[in-house]
Amino acid sequence: MVFALKDAGELAEGATAYVSLEPCNHYGRTPPCTEALIKAKVKKVVVGMVDPNPIVDSKGLERLRDAGIDVTVGVEEELCKRLNKAFIHRIVTGKPFVTLRYSLSINDREKLGEKNSTSISKIISNTKFRKIYFFWIPGVGDQRNQKPIYPPLKL
Ligand SMILES: [Zn+2]
Repeated sequence: MVFALKDAGELAEGATAYVSLEPCNHYGRTPPCTEALIKAKVKKVVVGMVDPNPIVDSKGLERLRDAGIDVTVGVEEELCKRLNKAFIHRIVTGKPFVTLRYSLSINDREKLGEKNSTSISKIISNTKFRKIYFFWIPGVGDQRNQKPIYPPLKL
């Protein structure tokens, strides 16, 4: 959010900000999102869901309201919970959110190394999953067909 507000510059003044998760009110990798919203002079913040993290837990909403910003909470809440499911899982259980993804061709064989490969995993791994997950452990198909990408580990 801090970066989005930086990009918006003066355009954020008087605007409505839509966020899937309650803005934080503490210092993490970036300064508090609440302070960035206040400093940017947004008029309204529409929040998808309250942050289940005990160090946030509605404190971000209170800070925005105290600063005179109009705050609406729970818009498309179920959708936002799905969007933030890995984060929620980690906060609630203390464990990482892990997904096992695999695919097989119609005859149970990957067409490794062949031209015009119809590998489903290749299509999915290059688009959706690598943008979502913090860390990627490639399978044998990835190692043979693709250059594995290791996004930076975010803690
Ligand atoms: Zn934040």
